[in-house]
Amino acid sequence: MKVVSAEIFGLNLCPSPRWLEGQRWRPIILKLVTDEGLVGIGEAGLAYGIAHNGAVGMVKDLVEAFVIGADPLDREAIWNRMHRHSFWGGAAGPVINAGMSAVDIALWDITGKALNQPIWRLLGGKVNADLRCYASQTQFGWDDGWVPCTDPKSHGEAAARAIAQGYDAIKIDPIMLMEDGSTENPDRLKGALERPIIKRATSRLAAIRDAVGPDIDIILELHSLTSLTGAQQLAEACAEFDLFMVEEAVNYNSDRPAKTLKQRMPHVRMTGGERIFTRWQYRGFLEDGSFDMLQPDFCLVGGISEGRKICDMAHAYEVTIQGHVCGSPISTAAAKHIETTIPNFQIHEHHIISTLQDNRDICLQDPQPVNGRYTVDDTPGLGLDLNEEFVRKNSPTIIKI
Ligand code: MG
Repeated sequence: MKVVSAEIFGLNLCPSPRWLEGQRWRPIILKLVTDEGLVGIGEAGLAYGIAHNGAVGMVKDLVEAFVIGADPLDREAIWNRMHRHSFWGGAAGPVINAGMSAVDIALWDITGKALNQPIWRLLGGKVNADLRCYASQTQFGWDDGWVPCTDPKSHGEAAARAIAQGYDAIKIDPIMLMEDGSTENPDRLKGALERPIIKRATSRLAAIRDAVGPDIDIILELHSLTSLTGAQQLAEACAEFDLFMVEEAVNYNSDRPAKTLKQRMPHVRMTGGERIFTRWQYRGFLEDGSFDMLQPDFCLVGGISEGRKICDMAHAYEVTIQGHVCGSPISTAAAKHIETTIPNFQIHEHHIISTLQDNRDICLQDPQPVNGRYTVDDTPGLGLDLNEEFVRKNSPTIIKI
């Protein structure tokens, strides 16, 4: 079997998580076709932030150089060629590894279809009967469209709406949105934080804890907006709310700040990983004991192949896994297939973007959590088909190879 053609779709959908005003949600999706007529789909995990066009071009370059004419069942060999023969694969980063992820996931999809098995079974079978999910980023609202919260009461109400749907855990970034719901200037959030910023966080978390009660897990998300001092201030100020995890408290340009923070606050459970790529980059964080839970994004680390290796490495350090999911349904599916098969699974991220209709229309199937839990089924491959009519209509960029 050989890969004979490909299409890359650069979508332009609804407003994105509001890092920059006016930014759009723009998933990058790869479709591979074989000479036997099998179709595989994958995603480069850069739908948000400023990297969309780089990712579209990266996928194109990788497919042309390493995928057309190759046997799609040779996943490891193709991964190794993308890593070793592209020059830039030798220094992991978001664009190259997002491109590699799109290719790898599409190859896994084809493999599953060729063998008539779901990917989770090819990864070792079901270790977890279902996946506990949390409602992610409730500062953007929940179950009410896409309406950013403003006062503490609205934060509490959004969290309560998620709990009413059956979730028993939520995640909130309590500092990124200002009191009117618009995005805070990131430069105001570095160094030692001013009192109003800390009060913004504690008043919102107090309202949430009050609304959801004592038995709900709360993850404090900081999006690497804070630096060491501010992260420590916030973690100390929010300790009274009995946090489940503190996420992306510092920046991950190197492993040093995370190590220092954990040494200063060994009693606070730390998590992160969506901006860390490949097993080589994860190694230092694991050896330092910086994280209690890792959040590799399987559309960013290098796909399902690399993601599974990172999960197994983490297990050796007694670190648990929550796949970072902030993408199309392909991103959700990739995480579910891996998370179903790993003994160190902790919790699944159900991002608010995964609840919005524009995102749900990307594929013909639309699995959603039931009572706050996800299950997988026996459909071969990823278990998804592109909704080509919707995707073509909403992709200003379509590249045919
Ligand atoms: Mg995050």
